[in-house]
Amino acid sequence: MTAVEARGITFAYGDRPVVEGVTLDVAEGAFLGLVGPNGSGKTTLLELLIGLRRPDSGSVTLFGEPAHRFADGERIGYVPQNVTTANDGLPITVEEVVRMGRYPHRWIGRFDGDDRRAVRTALDRVGITDLADRRVGRLSGGQRQRVFIARALASEADLLALDEPTVGVDAESREAFYDLLRTLNDDGLTIVLVEHDIGVVTTHATEVACLDRTLFFHGDPDTFVETDALAEAYGGSHGVVHHDH
Ligand code: ADP
Repeated sequence: MTAVEARGITFAYGDRPVVEGVTLDVAEGAFLGLVGPNGSGKTTLLELLIGLRRPDSGSVTLFGEPAHRFADGERIGYVPQNVTTANDGLPITVEEVVRMGRYPHRWIGRFDGDDRRAVRTALDRVGITDLADRRVGRLSGGQRQRVFIARALASEADLLALDEPTVGVDAESREAFYDLLRTLNDDGLTIVLVEHDIGVVTTHATEVACLDRTLFFHGDPDTFVETDALAEAYGGSHGVVHHDH
C-alpha cells in the first residue's frame, strides 16, 4: 500500500501560493528526503502530506484514506521543527513523554504489560533507556529529538514525519541521529524528512523530492545529484540560499 498519495495539491497562505500542483507518492518503507531552498514550502507540504493542513485543491490520501478524515492519528509520528526549545522547563520525564504514545490505545482501561513493553522497546531502539527518568527540559536538542521519535515508536507509528530535526545539533550527534533514522527505516518505518542539508538527504534517504513551490524532482538520490534539478531549484548554489518570491 502507498503511505501517502498527494494528487495535484495546491495551498496558499491568503493570496500567496506556497505549494502548487504537487503530485507525490510516498511508498510504504520509503525514506523520502524533502529538500528545497528556504521558504520553498517544505514545512507546508509536510503538513499537507500528513493531514495537518488541508489543500485548497487536489487531494491527499494517507494509507488509503482521505488525509483530513484520517482517524488513526497515532499511525503518524510527527516531529515538528523546534522541539528543541518548545518544551524547556516542562517538569516531565522522558518516560512520561514516551508513555503518551500509548494513550491513544488506552482511553479505557489501564496501562498494561504490553504498554510497558512498548515503552521500554521504544526507549531502547532510539538509545535513550538511560535517560528514562530525566526531565525532557534538561536534555540536549539531539536527545529531545530521540524522545519524540521514541514516542512515535511506542504508538506503533507507520510513518514518521520530521521537519529539520537537527537544527542546532552538533555534527557528531547529527550523524548518529541520521544513522538512527536509517536503522528505523531498514526496520520498516516509512520516513519523510524535511531537510535543508542536501548532503544529509543524498547520503541517508532512499529517495529525494525537491520543492520550490512546485515539485522539481522526485527520484533516487544519485539521479538527483546528476541532474539539473538541483541547480534549477537552488540557482546553482549549494550554500546559503536567499529566496524571495
Ligand atoms: P520552508 O519549510 O521550505 O522554509 P514554509 O512551508 O515554512 O517553507 O514556508 C513557505 C512560505 O510560506 C514562506 O514564504 C513562509 O514565509 C510562508 N509561510 C509559512 N507559514 C506561514 C503562515 N502560517 N502564514 C503565512 N505565511 C506563511
